[in-house]
Amino acid sequence: MTVIDSGRYLQGGRTALFEREFAAYTGHKFCVSTGCGLDSLSLIIKAYKELKLLNDGDEVIVPANTFIATILSITENRLTPVPVEPRISDFQIDDNLINEAVTARTKAVMIVHLYGYNALTERIVSICKQRNLLLLQDCAQAHGLAKAPLPDAGNIRGASAYSFYPGKNLGALADAGAIVTDDEELANVARALANYGSTAKYVFKYRGANSRMDEISAAVLSVKLKYLDEDNRRRQRIAEQYISGIRNESIVLPPLGGVHHIFPVLCKERDRLQTYLQERGIQTLIHYPVPPHKQECYREFARFRLPITERIHREELSLPLNQALTDEEVTYIINAVNAFI
Ligand SMILES: *Cc1c(COP(=O)(O)O)cnc(C)c1O
Repeated sequence: MTVIDSGRYLQGGRTALFEREFAAYTGHKFCVSTGCGLDSLSLIIKAYKELKLLNDGDEVIVPANTFIATILSITENRLTPVPVEPRISDFQIDDNLINEAVTARTKAVMIVHLYGYNALTERIVSICKQRNLLLLQDCAQAHGLAKAPLPDAGNIRGASAYSFYPGKNLGALADAGAIVTDDEELANVARALANYGSTAKYVFKYRGANSRMDEISAAVLSVKLKYLDEDNRRRQRIAEQYISGIRNESIVLPPLGGVHHIFPVLCKERDRLQTYLQERGIQTLIHYPVPPHKQECYREFARFRLPITERIHREELSLPLNQALTDEEVTYIINAVNAFI
């Protein structure tokens, strides 16, 4: 109501306040709000192109198993994604495979903290340092992870992209996103790019986009940010209950750790397990049924051989995980999963 009465629905005080709060929460100097997570990723790349640190045709190392938006942000800026297989143990990009994927054209590593697990390792930090690569982070599933002890990225240039899509750990009531970074130049260019490329009213330094967070979303996010740590702790307790309670030889459990956006189990008979749970009133999702390199929009990547990625996409099933689940519901789900044969 305060926002509606103010008569100011974009670029007002609520957005500026949330940007300060989210920068402080993630431990970064700058926060630039955007229209969505895909825009956050894309604007980072666009801004580094304006700064001449990225150019058409440059290669970006990226995990092969990710949501399509990660890859879209690279290709829509005319850069080339170089997919790297994940570890099966925690689904994160396998840092042992990064060096062999690097070529003279590689300019950035884009990691994805998929399912809320931490993907950033000392090894990745040292590869970026040694080879002078930008470190870009897709944090769309990892709100709160930045508060965990992560390797120090020191003076590597880079930025992190967030989405506040309603289903994320921190979600608005509409599409919204943000970029956080310690790179002041990047923050300034990205801020201009998100607002038509404007540096002052009706002065256009860049060919920008229209990607802005609205004031109502910002007000909602400021309130919900206060509960994020509590919600993440509840998610962690549910994950702990699943891990200690589920005993079924046909199901591989994920590790504990991170902010548990999703609880991914692997099962060779995934589709049958999903139907079985559905019949018991338990709704599950698949993240994701088809990997990016097998999508019609990326026919040119169909030749890649990525067996671990393909196995994850074939066997993954996400058990219900959100802070509103009750202990009784969690127990009901555990018992149902244990009885699956
Ligand atoms: C949700 C998501 C995005 C995109 O965010 P939107 O706000 O929907 O544009 C990008 N990457 C990952 C890993 C996501 O889960």
